[in-house]
Amino acid sequence: FEGDQAVLRFEDGETVRPDILIGADGVHSRVRNAIVGPTQARESGICAFRALVPAAKAPDFARRHAQTLWIGPDHHLVHYPVSGEEYVNLVAFAPAGASSVESWTATATLRELLDEFAGWDPRLVELITAADTPGRWALLDREPLDHWNRGNATLLGDAAHPMFPFFAQGAAQAIEDGAVLALCLAAAPDNPIAALGRYEELRRRRTARLQEVSHGRSHINHLPDGPEQRARDLEYSQADPLRANGWIYEYDPETAVSASA
Ligand SMILES: Cc1cc2nc3c(=O)[nH]c(=O)nc-3n(C[C@H](O)[C@H](O)[C@H](O)COP(=O)(O)OP(=O)(O)OC[C@H]3O[C@@H](n4cnc5c(N)ncnc54)[C@H](O)[C@@H]3O)c2cc1C
Repeated sequence: FEGDQAVLRFEDGETVRPDILIGADGVHSRVRNAIVGPTQARESGICAFRALVPAAKAPDFARRHAQTLWIGPDHHLVHYPVSGEEYVNLVAFAPAGASSVESWTATATLRELLDEFAGWDPRLVELITAADTPGRWALLDREPLDHWNRGNATLLGDAAHPMFPFFAQGAAQAIEDGAVLALCLAAAPDNPIAALGRYEELRRRRTARLQEVSHGRSHINHLPDGPEQRARDLEYSQADPLRANGWIYEYDPETAVSASA
């Protein structure tokens, strides 16, 4: 920054002074560091395994048109059909142990994934056994920000509000950010900095709440057996934990922006 003016310097030596800067550069965002000061994302101690099971090899229950959630001490696993029902997508969460690689391309072995769910329901073990080589991703953790604009710069997506994927909302919130930001900019073509202020004001509390509830899920979904676990199971048996959260899925960027006019 020169004062409140963002200045971009690229590896090829080019320097750009943009009208506005949108930092959509992910959980390790450099733009975030420039706006709020350098901070490191923390390792959460949780890792995600991701694998595809060819539908032809998947047990019947996993080919249903449904998202299925298996929960137990320190672990949970979600699966649902994808790719026109050609595959079943499987995402499992487990203690990270020594695994701290945060990458879409890092892999684990099927044995490692099976070991995490040893002794679970045989139907689940059957599904995992049919999976292709799983990817493994160490989840990072960051606190919500109390602001994410500076001068003519703002943040969007994981750069602003990375969250645990337990409500499957990280990319969804990045898309909502994009829609709201576009509407704010379109409404104030002569004052883009005011538009950035309005955008942050409209988006910050909602995304912070999602960061917090997603974080809370890591406790609720991984409870050891006991009274708290039994209370959770009762609650989940009475209301679909995803459907019970209408405030997440009902959001409409156009309504949010027009209501703030
Ligand atoms: C295991 C797991 C499961 C998930 N499941 C879901 C789900 O079901 N639904 C959902 O909505 N979300 C999910 N998410 C979250 C989702 O992946 C992220 O929230 C989303 O990718 C964030 O998008 P983004 O564009 O903000 O950041 P990113 O996808 O991280 O993109 C940032 C981009 O910026 C680039 N970049 C960074 N620094 C620089 C630089 N200096 N110069 C140039 N380019 C740079 C990067 O290369 C990258 O392409 C999941 C995440 C994980 C880890």
